Amino acid sequence: MASWDSLTTRQLTAQREAAVRTQVLDAVAPFSPFWRSRLSALGRTAKDVASLSGLRELPAAGERDVCPDGNPSGAAGLVLQAKESGYALHADGPALRKALGRRLTKPDDYREIVEADTRPTSYVYAGQALRFPVASTRSDLDVVARTGARLWQVLGLSRADIVVSALPAASSALVQALSLAALGASSPLFAPGGQVEQVVSTLNMVDATVLVLPAVGGADLLGHLTDVGAALSSVTTVLVAGPPDPHERSAIADAMAGIRGARPVLLAVHVPDGHRLPWAECRESGGSTGLHTYPDLEVVETIDPETGEQAGQEGPYEVVLTQLGLRGTALLRWRTGDVTDAVEEEACRSCGRTVPRALGLHGGALVPQLMLRTGPQAADLRAIASALSGRPDVTDWRVVIGRSVRDGTDELLVHVLPPDGVEQADVAVAVARDLRLAAGMLPSQVIVSDDGRLPDGTGLSQRLLT
Ligand SMILES: [Zn+2]
Repeated sequence: MASWDSLTTRQLTAQREAAVRTQVLDAVAPFSPFWRSRLSALGRTAKDVASLSGLRELPAAGERDVCPDGNPSGAAGLVLQAKESGYALHADGPALRKALGRRLTKPDDYREIVEADTRPTSYVYAGQALRFPVASTRSDLDVVARTGARLWQVLGLSRADIVVSALPAASSALVQALSLAALGASSPLFAPGGQVEQVVSTLNMVDATVLVLPAVGGADLLGHLTDVGAALSSVTTVLVAGPPDPHERSAIADAMAGIRGARPVLLAVHVPDGHRLPWAECRESGGSTGLHTYPDLEVVETIDPETGEQAGQEGPYEVVLTQLGLRGTALLRWRTGDVTDAVEEEACRSCGRTVPRALGLHGGALVPQLMLRTGPQAADLRAIASALSGRPDVTDWRVVIGRSVRDGTDELLVHVLPPDGVEQADVAVAVARDLRLAAGMLPSQVIVSDDGRLPDGTGLSQRLLT
């Protein structure tokens, strides 16, 4: 069979149908408390959802659905919880035969096989408006490491590459994915943390060929590194984790001009929130053909970011994803909070890989981290949109994020247009109350339109403007 990145549509569809069936029937539906109760609340059986077309009919869910009251302990319900008898019922043939064989001869080995598949041993943190742990089993870590070897192919790296990561030391899926990728690809990786001094001393110690920078603050950090004369002349790839927005990308590209004696390529890498696999831009494209995904290990779809329903013709869209083959924390049609212009299915025109690619991806755009006058606050625009849509006292609305001219803090302004005969003050109070319930925050201001007009502009969607 062709390799993972050159399967024909037919081969890929067959492989994914089988993987969706296994993931839903043998892992998620029987063993995840959250998905089990969600399916039953929706009146669906596991079989209804266990195909690509069935999956597409499943309403997308995100962190707010898992933790409706804002308490992150709800995320435990996403983790598969299998007992030994459940494992025997649902493990695939070869794994089960191996395990049963060992059970007779070496009981400890048997337990090891069962636990490698089902027992969470490793956690990273995710979440946008809240923060919750994401669990991996040992077999998940194997999948992530093997995917890392593919990541190296997409980035055009080899085992000869030496990576220095200037990402802050954090227990994030991206940090974990990079470290397992280096392991999977047999490349040395140094992760001294995000402090300039430590990064400089590491760069002066090894001939780094890959420098990993955060999208936010990456340009400043690189500026510092070039200013102090850190050893960067061996660097061939600047890998930006985020992914960078166009402004951050061009700022980093400008700072790269200060690297003496080298002309590295700038490529982006990204793990969507809650996920564990790193998407990357291919080296051949220089970053112009979007983030490449892994079609046999995930289903990447798009929805309307305002309504959470099937996307219409016009983007931008919210990225939703279903993991195939990962256990631990299991995601089906997960709302990532990322906004994309499109997910293209055709072969990449630069590298020829037949893998879906997310274009113009803006990470976490639907849950911006705001610095309000009252303090820092993550604003879940999806929850805000859901509180504003379909109300009898609001005909139309806009949410505008801007900066206060007075003191430079962020402002979240909600403009509403009430129908005739509705008292303005009543609408303002009711809207503020419902926003607090749905999104756990109050807007800076609710502005009731008295002339029938609402602000317009270009934004994340028709009504969520920035
Ligand atoms: Zn490509």
